[in-house]
Amino acid sequence: MRTVIRDVRLFDGAKTTPRTTVLIVDDHIAEFEGGTGDLEIDGTGRTLLPGLIDAHTHTFVVDDLRAALTNGVTTELDMFCLPPSLAELRKQTAERDDIADFRSAGTLATAPGGHPSQLLAAAGVEALGVEPFDTIHSPGEAASFVEARLAEGADYLKIVIDDGAVHGTHLPVLSADTATALVAEAHDVGLRVIAHAITAAEVRIAVDAGVDGLAHVWTDTTDAALDLVNLIAAQDIFVVSTLVYFEAITHNAAAADCATPATAAGASQVARALHRAGVPLLAGTDATPFVPAHGVDLHHELALLTAAGLDNEQALAAATSLPAHYFGLADRGRIAPGKRADLLLVDGDPTTDISATRSIAEVWRRGVRHIR
Ligand SMILES: [Zn+2]
Repeated sequence: MRTVIRDVRLFDGAKTTPRTTVLIVDDHIAEFEGGTGDLEIDGTGRTLLPGLIDAHTHTFVVDDLRAALTNGVTTELDMFCLPPSLAELRKQTAERDDIADFRSAGTLATAPGGHPSQLLAAAGVEALGVEPFDTIHSPGEAASFVEARLAEGADYLKIVIDDGAVHGTHLPVLSADTATALVAEAHDVGLRVIAHAITAAEVRIAVDAGVDGLAHVWTDTTDAALDLVNLIAAQDIFVVSTLVYFEAITHNAAAADCATPATAAGASQVARALHRAGVPLLAGTDATPFVPAHGVDLHHELALLTAAGLDNEQALAAATSLPAHYFGLADRGRIAPGKRADLLLVDGDPTTDISATRSIAEVWRRGVRHIR
């Protein structure tokens, strides 16, 4: 099957070409050397992008991946799902092309009763089919914890350092020694480590433990908190933005008359400082079955990233080439011969109007045109 997309503006994951022709052969991009396609698509007035990658989701069911793909998100990087979901979604994403692909942290590392246990309890764990999950409370358990994640098929390790303060509560939290032991064990077996930490003090523990990336920006903006930016830049740690998540919890906090109205503003200010310091920002939503939503809210995240100072191409790279690079997904995130044909065709020009990513004309997943 040959699909030719003619006369299209191309954002290849890093830079923009005003007008070109792109060839899809079966499941990959191929060099276009003339000729016609079995399917011809007119790209006039449109922009072709790599399929979007959401670098922070919680993917529990196939419908999450269907919502993602329909909205142009061809890969979700799950940051916590449980073994039954992981096994089922792994099987479905290998066999089907009508849902987004995914990678997963599997069971995250948190203290007994630690975040996000309180959210699961509040959501009604039975309703989600969520069973109690493995937790860890001492450095001596790190090796067996990581071994169990490998056995369940995790692609990377997620650790949680969150004492509950931003959620208006107090929660048990991993010790610095346990976090450090988890990172060492994960690195020993070749797993990247991503930390959930949402205050500067928590981020400091994660950074000192040697994590590869942060699953969120943080929310406090004292001088000391902003100084962390330089430490993160020096250690080449990537940060997943999740500004839409902070917007959501700020909204919830306001509704509940909680004392964290500055959370979203702080997150945006920290994102701006990280970007200025040259820290790689990856677009992520923290999508769940509730809010933020799978797929559609990544488009809102792109707008929030531009509001935090990224130019449009930088925001688009944050949702394509950068997550592919930092998560080792060499087959995607860029449009070039040999790459997997995960593609998003939109009307208009998101390099000048970021909201144009929402004007979806076509989506391909592994070369298969998605019927929306
Ligand atoms: Zn999350």
